[in-house]
Amino acid sequence: MTQKTRTRFAPSPTGFIHQGNIRSALYPWAFARSTGGDFILRIEDTDLERSTQAAVDVIIESMNWLGLDYDEGPFYQMLRMDRYKAVLADMVAAGHVYPCYMSMAELDALREAQTAAKEKPRYDGSWRPAPGKTLPPVPEGVQPVLRFKNPQGGSVVWDDKVKGRIEISNDELDDLVIARPDGTPTYNFCVVVDDLDMAITHVIRGDDHVNNTPRQINIFKALGKEPPVYAHLPTVLNEQGEKMSKRHGAKPVTQYREEGYLPDAMVNYLARLGWSHGDDEIFSRAQFLEWFNLDHLGKSAAQFDEAKLRWVNAQHIKMSADEVLAPLVQAQLARRGIDTDARLTSICALFKDRCDTTVALADWAAVFYADVQASEADLAQHVTDAVKPALTLLTDKLATCTWDKAGIAAAIKEVLTACGLKMPQLAMPVRVLVAGNAHTPSLDALLSLFDREKVIARLKAA
Ligand code: GLU
Repeated sequence: MTQKTRTRFAPSPTGFIHQGNIRSALYPWAFARSTGGDFILRIEDTDLERSTQAAVDVIIESMNWLGLDYDEGPFYQMLRMDRYKAVLADMVAAGHVYPCYMSMAELDALREAQTAAKEKPRYDGSWRPAPGKTLPPVPEGVQPVLRFKNPQGGSVVWDDKVKGRIEISNDELDDLVIARPDGTPTYNFCVVVDDLDMAITHVIRGDDHVNNTPRQINIFKALGKEPPVYAHLPTVLNEQGEKMSKRHGAKPVTQYREEGYLPDAMVNYLARLGWSHGDDEIFSRAQFLEWFNLDHLGKSAAQFDEAKLRWVNAQHIKMSADEVLAPLVQAQLARRGIDTDARLTSICALFKDRCDTTVALADWAAVFYADVQASEADLAQHVTDAVKPALTLLTDKLATCTWDKAGIAAAIKEVLTACGLKMPQLAMPVRVLVAGNAHTPSLDALLSLFDREKVIARLKAA
Protein backbone atom coordinates (compact mmCIF):
# COMPACT_ATOMS: atom_id res chain seq x y z
CA MET A 1 0.00 0.00 0.00
CA THR A 2 1.43 3.37 -0.88
CA GLN A 3 1.62 5.96 1.84
CA LYS A 4 -0.86 8.81 1.73
CA THR A 5 0.79 12.07 0.70
CA ARG A 6 0.88 14.69 3.45
CA THR A 7 2.26 18.13 2.76
CA ARG A 8 2.29 21.34 4.70
CA PHE A 9 2.59 25.08 4.45
CA ALA A 10 4.44 26.45 7.46
CA PRO A 11 4.51 30.24 7.30
CA SER A 12 5.90 32.48 9.98
CA PRO A 13 3.22 35.10 10.68
CA THR A 14 5.49 38.10 10.52
CA GLY A 15 4.27 40.85 8.23
CA PHE A 16 1.99 40.31 5.27
CA ILE A 17 2.14 37.42 2.84
CA HIS A 18 3.18 38.19 -0.75
CA GLN A 19 3.21 36.22 -4.00
CA GLY A 20 6.60 34.71 -3.30
CA ASN A 21 5.38 33.36 0.05
CA ILE A 22 2.06 32.04 -1.17
CA ARG A 23 3.72 30.10 -3.97
CA SER A 24 5.24 27.99 -1.18
CA ALA A 25 1.65 27.13 -0.21
CA LEU A 26 0.43 26.53 -3.75
CA TYR A 27 2.76 23.67 -4.63
CA PRO A 28 2.34 21.57 -1.49
CA TRP A 29 -1.41 22.16 -1.71
CA ALA A 30 -1.46 21.11 -5.36
CA PHE A 31 0.68 18.07 -4.66
CA ALA A 32 -1.62 16.94 -1.86
CA ARG A 33 -4.73 17.52 -3.96
CA SER A 34 -3.35 15.87 -7.07
CA THR A 35 -2.28 12.76 -5.16
CA GLY A 36 -5.38 12.44 -2.99
CA GLY A 37 -3.36 13.42 0.08
CA ASP A 38 -3.70 15.89 2.92
CA PHE A 39 -2.51 19.46 3.16
CA ILE A 40 -1.73 20.91 6.56
CA LEU A 41 -1.40 24.50 7.70
CA ARG A 42 1.12 25.14 10.44
CA ILE A 43 1.81 28.55 11.86
CA GLU A 44 5.44 28.93 12.93
CA ASP A 45 4.91 31.62 15.50
CA THR A 46 7.81 31.06 17.87
CA ASP A 47 9.32 34.44 17.06
CA LEU A 48 7.17 36.19 19.65
CA GLU A 49 8.51 39.65 18.88
CA ARG A 50 7.52 39.56 15.22
CA SER A 51 4.53 37.18 15.07
CA THR A 52 1.03 38.65 15.10
CA GLN A 53 -2.49 37.29 14.92
CA ALA A 54 -3.21 39.90 12.24
CA ALA A 55 -0.56 38.27 10.06
CA VAL A 56 -2.12 34.83 10.68
CA ASP A 57 -5.51 36.22 9.65
CA VAL A 58 -4.07 37.57 6.41
CA ILE A 59 -2.41 34.21 5.64
CA ILE A 60 -5.73 32.44 6.13
CA GLU A 61 -7.63 35.06 4.16
CA SER A 62 -5.15 34.80 1.29
CA MET A 63 -5.39 31.02 1.23
CA ASN A 64 -9.19 31.17 1.33
CA TRP A 65 -9.25 33.62 -1.52
CA LEU A 66 -7.02 31.43 -3.67
CA GLY A 67 -8.94 28.31 -2.70
CA LEU A 68 -5.94 26.66 -1.06
CA ASP A 69 -8.01 24.66 1.39
CA TYR A 70 -6.28 22.71 4.10
CA ASP A 71 -7.35 19.46 5.70
CA GLU A 72 -5.75 20.02 9.09
CA GLY A 73 -4.73 23.04 11.08
CA PRO A 74 -3.93 25.75 11.57
CA PHE A 75 -1.57 24.31 14.16
CA TYR A 76 0.32 26.90 16.17
CA GLN A 77 3.84 26.04 17.27
CA MET A 78 3.46 28.14 20.41
CA LEU A 79 0.67 25.81 21.50
CA ARG A 80 2.88 22.77 21.02
CA MET A 81 5.70 23.74 23.38
CA ASP A 82 4.90 20.93 25.83
CA ARG A 83 5.19 18.41 23.05
CA TYR A 84 8.60 19.76 21.92
CA LYS A 85 9.82 19.69 25.51
CA ALA A 86 8.69 16.08 25.88
CA VAL A 87 10.61 15.05 22.76
CA LEU A 88 13.57 17.05 24.00
CA ALA A 89 13.47 15.11 27.27
CA ASP A 90 13.53 11.86 25.25
CA MET A 91 16.55 13.14 23.33
CA VAL A 92 18.32 13.98 26.58
CA ALA A 93 17.51 10.54 27.97
CA ALA A 94 18.82 8.87 24.82
CA GLY A 95 22.05 10.87 24.99
CA HIS A 96 21.51 12.75 21.73
CA VAL A 97 21.97 16.14 23.32
CA TYR A 98 24.30 17.62 25.87
CA PRO A 99 24.42 20.79 27.95
CA CYS A 100 26.84 23.46 26.79
CA TYR A 101 27.87 26.21 29.18
CA MET A 102 29.92 28.24 26.78
CA SER A 103 29.08 31.87 27.40
CA MET A 104 28.28 34.42 24.71
CA ALA A 105 31.63 36.10 25.32
CA GLU A 106 33.47 32.80 24.86
CA LEU A 107 31.50 32.04 21.69
CA ASP A 108 32.35 35.48 20.32
CA ALA A 109 36.03 35.02 21.13
CA LEU A 110 35.97 31.60 19.43
CA ARG A 111 34.33 33.06 16.36
CA GLU A 112 36.86 35.88 16.17
CA ALA A 113 39.81 33.52 16.50
CA GLN A 114 38.39 31.26 13.77
CA THR A 115 37.70 34.17 11.47
CA ALA A 116 41.23 35.50 12.03
CA ALA A 117 42.60 32.05 11.14
CA LYS A 118 40.41 32.11 8.00
CA GLU A 119 38.37 29.17 9.28
CA LYS A 120 34.62 28.82 9.05
CA PRO A 121 33.17 30.02 12.38
CA ARG A 122 31.60 27.07 14.19
CA TYR A 123 31.12 25.70 17.65
CA ASP A 124 34.23 23.70 18.61
CA GLY A 125 32.52 20.95 20.59
CA SER A 126 34.27 21.78 23.87
CA TRP A 127 31.26 20.63 25.93
CA ARG A 128 30.53 17.57 23.83
CA PRO A 129 31.05 14.52 26.00
CA ALA A 130 33.21 11.71 24.66
CA PRO A 131 34.72 8.60 26.22
CA GLY A 132 37.84 9.54 28.15
CA LYS A 133 37.28 13.27 27.65
CA THR A 134 37.29 15.62 30.62
CA LEU A 135 34.77 18.36 30.25
CA PRO A 136 35.45 21.90 31.52
CA PRO A 137 34.25 22.64 35.06
CA VAL A 138 30.58 23.63 35.09
CA PRO A 139 30.37 27.35 35.83
CA GLU A 140 28.14 28.31 38.69
CA GLY A 141 24.76 29.94 38.18
CA VAL A 142 24.80 29.48 34.40
CA GLN A 143 21.88 27.84 32.62
CA PRO A 144 23.24 25.81 29.71
CA VAL A 145 21.89 25.55 26.19
CA LEU A 146 21.27 22.04 24.89
CA ARG A 147 23.22 21.06 21.82
CA PHE A 148 22.44 18.27 19.43
CA LYS A 149 25.21 15.72 18.97
CA ASN A 150 25.56 15.98 15.24
CA PRO A 151 27.04 12.78 13.80
CA GLN A 152 30.78 13.01 13.24
CA GLY A 153 32.17 11.84 9.92
CA GLY A 154 30.13 10.77 6.94
CA SER A 155 27.65 12.99 5.22
CA VAL A 156 23.99 13.81 4.88
CA VAL A 157 22.56 13.03 1.48
CA TRP A 158 19.13 13.65 0.07
CA ASP A 159 17.58 13.57 -3.33
CA ASP A 160 16.00 16.99 -3.59
CA LYS A 161 13.02 16.99 -5.95
CA VAL A 162 14.12 20.35 -7.34
CA LYS A 163 17.85 20.54 -6.86
CA GLY A 164 18.77 16.90 -7.34
CA ARG A 165 21.17 15.00 -5.12
CA ILE A 166 22.63 17.10 -2.32
CA GLU A 167 25.42 15.86 -0.11
CA ILE A 168 26.68 17.78 2.89
CA SER A 169 29.61 16.52 4.93
CA ASN A 170 28.84 16.22 8.65
CA ASP A 171 32.11 18.01 9.30
CA GLU A 172 30.42 21.12 7.89
CA LEU A 173 27.73 20.96 10.55
CA ASP A 174 28.46 21.88 14.12
CA ASP A 175 26.39 20.82 17.11
CA LEU A 176 23.19 22.76 16.80
CA VAL A 177 21.59 24.47 19.79
CA ILE A 178 18.19 22.83 20.12
CA ALA A 179 17.11 24.36 23.43
CA ARG A 180 17.81 27.79 24.86
CA PRO A 181 18.94 28.35 28.45
CA ASP A 182 15.29 28.78 29.50
CA GLY A 183 14.50 25.37 28.00
CA THR A 184 12.54 26.61 24.98
CA PRO A 185 13.27 24.55 21.89
CA THR A 186 14.77 26.20 18.82
CA TYR A 187 13.40 26.44 15.33
CA ASN A 188 15.00 23.48 13.53
CA PHE A 189 14.04 21.13 16.32
CA CYS A 190 10.38 22.24 16.36
CA VAL A 191 10.15 21.77 12.59
CA VAL A 192 11.36 18.18 12.86
CA VAL A 193 8.98 17.33 15.70
CA ASP A 194 6.12 18.87 13.75
CA ASP A 195 6.96 17.20 10.47
CA LEU A 196 7.12 13.90 12.34
CA ASP A 197 3.96 14.34 14.39
CA MET A 198 2.07 15.59 11.38
CA ALA A 199 3.39 12.63 9.36
CA ILE A 200 4.57 14.92 6.59
CA THR A 201 5.75 12.91 3.59
CA HIS A 202 6.90 15.80 1.37
CA VAL A 203 8.40 19.07 2.53
CA ILE A 204 8.03 21.59 -0.27
CA ARG A 205 9.45 24.94 0.77
CA GLY A 206 11.61 27.86 -0.26
CA ASP A 207 15.29 27.20 -0.84
CA ASP A 208 16.20 29.70 1.86
CA HIS A 209 15.74 26.63 4.10
CA VAL A 210 18.10 24.35 2.24
CA ASN A 211 20.84 24.94 4.81
CA ASN A 212 18.53 23.76 7.58
CA THR A 213 17.73 20.50 5.83
CA PRO A 214 20.89 18.49 6.65
CA ARG A 215 20.52 19.50 10.29
CA GLN A 216 16.88 18.51 10.31
CA ILE A 217 17.67 15.18 8.62
CA ASN A 218 20.23 14.40 11.30
CA ILE A 219 17.65 15.08 14.01
CA PHE A 220 15.16 12.78 12.23
CA LYS A 221 17.78 10.06 12.17
CA ALA A 222 18.62 10.55 15.85
CA LEU A 223 14.92 10.07 16.60
CA GLY A 224 15.07 6.83 14.59
CA LYS A 225 12.82 8.18 11.86
CA GLU A 226 13.07 8.52 8.11
CA PRO A 227 13.05 12.13 6.91
CA PRO A 228 10.41 13.23 4.39
CA VAL A 229 11.09 13.92 0.72
CA TYR A 230 12.34 17.47 0.22
CA ALA A 231 11.73 19.89 -2.63
CA HIS A 232 13.37 23.29 -2.26
CA LEU A 233 11.81 25.92 -4.49
CA PRO A 234 13.97 28.61 -6.05
CA THR A 235 13.39 32.19 -4.99
CA VAL A 236 10.80 34.44 -6.58
CA LEU A 237 12.39 37.67 -7.78
CA ASN A 238 10.57 40.94 -8.19
CA GLU A 239 10.53 42.88 -11.45
CA GLN A 240 13.84 44.52 -10.55
CA GLY A 241 15.46 41.13 -10.09
CA GLU A 242 15.69 41.39 -6.30
CA LYS A 243 14.38 38.73 -3.96
CA MET A 244 10.69 39.49 -3.56
CA SER A 245 10.03 41.07 -0.20
CA LYS A 246 7.91 43.63 1.51
CA ARG A 247 10.94 45.87 1.74
CA HIS A 248 11.35 45.64 -2.02
CA GLY A 249 7.79 46.75 -2.71
CA ALA A 250 5.95 43.41 -2.87
CA LYS A 251 2.20 43.70 -2.45
CA PRO A 252 0.10 41.59 -0.09
CA VAL A 253 -1.61 38.72 -1.92
CA THR A 254 -5.06 40.02 -0.98
CA GLN A 255 -4.37 43.34 -2.67
CA TYR A 256 -4.63 41.52 -6.00
CA ARG A 257 -8.20 40.61 -5.14
CA GLU A 258 -8.95 44.30 -4.62
CA GLU A 259 -7.20 45.09 -7.89
CA GLY A 260 -9.56 42.78 -9.75
CA TYR A 261 -7.60 39.57 -10.21
CA LEU A 262 -9.41 36.24 -10.27
CA PRO A 263 -8.24 33.53 -7.89
CA ASP A 264 -7.97 31.00 -10.71
CA ALA A 265 -5.84 33.41 -12.74
CA MET A 266 -3.58 33.97 -9.77
CA VAL A 267 -3.26 30.22 -9.20
CA ASN A 268 -2.47 29.79 -12.91
CA TYR A 269 0.12 32.56 -12.86
CA LEU A 270 1.80 31.46 -9.63
CA ALA A 271 1.78 27.84 -10.77
CA ARG A 272 3.78 28.81 -13.85
CA LEU A 273 6.22 30.76 -11.72
CA GLY A 274 8.43 27.77 -11.04
CA TRP A 275 6.63 24.84 -12.66
CA SER A 276 5.65 23.97 -16.19
CA HIS A 277 3.49 21.63 -18.20
CA GLY A 278 4.99 21.80 -21.67
CA ASP A 279 4.24 25.19 -23.17
CA ASP A 280 0.84 25.56 -21.53
CA GLU A 281 0.41 29.09 -20.24
CA ILE A 282 -3.30 29.21 -19.54
CA PHE A 283 -4.99 26.44 -17.63
CA SER A 284 -7.83 25.92 -15.24
CA ARG A 285 -7.45 24.90 -11.62
CA ALA A 286 -8.63 21.39 -12.52
CA GLN A 287 -6.03 21.07 -15.28
CA PHE A 288 -3.32 22.31 -12.94
CA LEU A 289 -4.22 19.67 -10.36
CA GLU A 290 -4.39 17.02 -13.04
CA TRP A 291 -0.94 17.92 -14.36
CA PHE A 292 0.97 18.93 -11.25
CA ASN A 293 3.83 16.78 -10.03
CA LEU A 294 7.22 17.42 -8.48
CA ASP A 295 9.10 16.41 -11.62
CA HIS A 296 8.61 19.67 -13.49
CA LEU A 297 9.55 22.22 -10.88
CA GLY A 298 11.95 24.82 -12.25
CA LYS A 299 15.49 24.97 -10.98
CA SER A 300 16.18 28.65 -11.51
CA ALA A 301 14.73 31.68 -9.82
CA ALA A 302 11.46 32.89 -11.29
CA GLN A 303 10.81 36.55 -11.92
CA PHE A 304 7.50 38.15 -11.15
CA ASP A 305 6.01 40.03 -14.09
CA GLU A 306 2.87 42.03 -13.42
CA ALA A 307 2.12 42.58 -17.13
CA LYS A 308 2.12 38.82 -17.65
CA LEU A 309 -0.13 38.38 -14.63
CA ARG A 310 -2.57 40.89 -16.14
CA TRP A 311 -2.54 39.00 -19.40
CA VAL A 312 -3.22 35.71 -17.64
CA ASN A 313 -6.03 37.42 -15.75
CA ALA A 314 -7.54 38.72 -18.98
CA GLN A 315 -7.58 35.17 -20.40
CA HIS A 316 -9.32 33.88 -17.29
CA ILE A 317 -11.87 36.69 -17.37
CA LYS A 318 -12.70 35.71 -20.95
CA MET A 319 -12.99 32.05 -19.91
CA SER A 320 -15.14 32.77 -16.87
CA ALA A 321 -18.89 32.32 -16.87
CA ASP A 322 -20.76 35.63 -16.69
CA GLU A 323 -22.52 34.38 -13.57
CA VAL A 324 -19.13 33.97 -11.90
CA LEU A 325 -17.94 37.42 -12.93
CA ALA A 326 -21.09 39.30 -11.97
CA PRO A 327 -20.76 38.96 -8.17
CA LEU A 328 -17.08 39.93 -8.37
CA VAL A 329 -17.93 43.03 -10.35
CA GLN A 330 -20.81 43.72 -7.99
CA ALA A 331 -18.36 43.65 -5.07
CA GLN A 332 -16.08 46.10 -6.88
CA LEU A 333 -19.00 48.45 -7.51
CA ALA A 334 -20.32 48.13 -3.96
CA ARG A 335 -16.96 49.47 -2.78
CA ARG A 336 -17.63 52.54 -4.92
CA GLY A 337 -21.10 52.88 -3.42
CA ILE A 338 -22.80 51.83 -6.67
CA ASP A 339 -25.79 49.48 -6.59
CA THR A 340 -26.36 46.99 -9.39
CA ASP A 341 -29.19 44.78 -10.63
CA ALA A 342 -29.92 41.68 -12.69
CA ARG A 343 -28.49 43.26 -15.86
CA LEU A 344 -24.99 42.91 -14.49
CA THR A 345 -24.55 39.36 -15.83
CA SER A 346 -25.34 40.51 -19.40
CA ILE A 347 -23.10 43.53 -18.93
CA CYS A 348 -20.24 41.20 -17.98
CA ALA A 349 -20.96 39.12 -21.08
CA LEU A 350 -20.76 42.17 -23.30
CA PHE A 351 -17.57 43.64 -21.88
CA LYS A 352 -15.47 40.78 -20.53
CA ASP A 353 -13.48 40.30 -23.73
CA ARG A 354 -11.99 43.76 -23.41
CA CYS A 355 -11.14 43.74 -19.70
CA ASP A 356 -8.04 42.45 -17.96
CA THR A 357 -9.34 42.90 -14.39
CA THR A 358 -12.71 42.97 -12.71
CA VAL A 359 -11.88 46.59 -11.86
CA ALA A 360 -11.84 47.36 -15.59
CA LEU A 361 -15.09 45.43 -15.95
CA ALA A 362 -16.57 47.43 -13.08
CA ASP A 363 -15.51 50.65 -14.82
CA TRP A 364 -17.65 49.62 -17.77
CA ALA A 365 -20.52 48.40 -15.65
CA ALA A 366 -20.52 51.69 -13.74
CA VAL A 367 -21.58 53.39 -16.96
CA PHE A 368 -24.98 51.70 -16.54
CA TYR A 369 -25.45 52.43 -12.86
CA ALA A 370 -23.82 55.78 -12.24
CA ASP A 371 -23.43 59.11 -14.02
CA VAL A 372 -21.01 59.32 -16.92
CA GLN A 373 -18.90 62.24 -17.97
CA ALA A 374 -17.46 62.16 -21.47
CA SER A 375 -14.23 64.05 -22.01
CA GLU A 376 -14.39 67.50 -23.59
CA ALA A 377 -12.19 66.22 -26.39
CA ASP A 378 -14.57 63.35 -27.22
CA LEU A 379 -17.58 65.62 -27.08
CA ALA A 380 -15.94 68.17 -29.36
CA GLN A 381 -14.75 65.56 -31.81
CA HIS A 382 -17.85 63.41 -32.08
CA VAL A 383 -20.91 65.38 -30.96
CA THR A 384 -20.76 67.98 -33.73
CA ASP A 385 -23.52 70.33 -34.78
CA ALA A 386 -23.71 68.42 -38.04
CA VAL A 387 -24.76 65.23 -36.31
CA LYS A 388 -27.19 66.77 -33.83
CA PRO A 389 -30.30 66.49 -36.08
CA ALA A 390 -29.56 62.78 -36.49
CA LEU A 391 -29.24 62.45 -32.71
CA THR A 392 -32.61 64.13 -32.24
CA LEU A 393 -34.21 61.79 -34.77
CA LEU A 394 -32.64 58.78 -33.11
CA THR A 395 -33.90 59.95 -29.73
CA ASP A 396 -37.43 60.05 -31.12
CA LYS A 397 -37.16 56.61 -32.70
CA LEU A 398 -35.70 55.09 -29.55
CA ALA A 399 -38.59 56.48 -27.54
CA THR A 400 -41.05 54.19 -29.35
CA CYS A 401 -39.09 51.24 -30.79
CA THR A 402 -39.20 47.77 -29.29
CA TRP A 403 -36.58 47.89 -26.52
CA ASP A 404 -34.34 45.02 -27.49
CA LYS A 405 -31.28 44.57 -29.64
CA ALA A 406 -33.24 44.01 -32.89
CA GLY A 407 -35.63 46.89 -32.25
CA ILE A 408 -32.78 49.26 -31.46
CA ALA A 409 -30.80 48.08 -34.51
CA ALA A 410 -33.79 48.83 -36.72
CA ALA A 411 -34.19 52.33 -35.23
CA ILE A 412 -30.50 53.09 -35.82
CA LYS A 413 -30.74 51.86 -39.40
CA GLU A 414 -33.73 54.09 -40.14
CA VAL A 415 -31.81 57.13 -38.85
CA LEU A 416 -28.71 56.27 -40.89
CA THR A 417 -30.82 55.99 -44.03
CA ALA A 418 -32.87 59.12 -43.33
CA CYS A 419 -29.77 61.25 -42.59
CA GLY A 420 -27.40 59.69 -45.11
CA LEU A 421 -24.84 58.80 -42.44
CA LYS A 422 -22.45 55.90 -42.07
CA MET A 423 -22.64 53.83 -38.89
CA PRO A 424 -19.55 55.31 -37.15
CA GLN A 425 -20.76 58.88 -37.76
CA LEU A 426 -23.81 58.16 -35.65
CA ALA A 427 -22.47 55.46 -33.35
CA MET A 428 -19.51 57.45 -32.04
CA PRO A 429 -21.48 60.43 -30.72
CA VAL A 430 -24.12 58.12 -29.24
CA ARG A 431 -21.44 56.14 -27.44
CA VAL A 432 -19.80 59.28 -26.12
CA LEU A 433 -23.11 60.64 -24.84
CA VAL A 434 -24.55 57.42 -23.43
CA ALA A 435 -21.46 55.57 -22.26
CA GLY A 436 -18.97 58.41 -21.91
CA ASN A 437 -16.58 56.56 -24.19
CA ALA A 438 -16.27 56.36 -27.96
CA HIS A 439 -15.02 52.78 -27.91
CA THR A 440 -17.70 50.34 -26.87
CA PRO A 441 -19.09 47.07 -28.21
CA SER A 442 -21.78 47.27 -30.90
CA LEU A 443 -24.23 50.07 -30.35
CA ASP A 444 -27.43 48.02 -30.40
CA ALA A 445 -26.05 45.54 -27.86
CA LEU A 446 -24.82 48.40 -25.69
CA LEU A 447 -28.04 50.39 -25.72
CA SER A 448 -30.28 47.38 -25.16
CA LEU A 449 -28.67 46.89 -21.74
CA PHE A 450 -29.62 50.41 -20.65
CA ASP A 451 -33.01 51.54 -19.50
CA ARG A 452 -34.70 53.32 -22.35
CA GLU A 453 -35.22 56.43 -20.21
CA LYS A 454 -31.56 56.71 -19.35
CA VAL A 455 -30.50 56.52 -23.01
CA ILE A 456 -33.00 59.17 -23.99
CA ALA A 457 -32.01 61.46 -21.14
CA ARG A 458 -28.32 61.17 -22.01
CA LEU A 459 -28.96 61.80 -25.71
CA LYS A 460 -31.09 64.80 -24.90
CA ALA A 461 -28.23 66.28 -22.90
CA ALA A 462 -26.34 66.78 -26.19
N1 GLU B 1 8.43 29.10 8.75
C1 GLU B 1 9.31 29.01 7.64
C2 GLU B 1 9.16 30.24 6.78
O1 GLU B 1 8.17 30.94 6.88
C3 GLU B 1 9.04 27.77 6.78
C4 GLU B 1 9.69 26.58 7.33
C5 GLU B 1 9.49 25.32 6.54
O2 GLU B 1 8.72 25.30 5.58
O3 GLU B 1 10.06 24.32 6.94
O4 GLU B 1 10.03 30.53 6.01
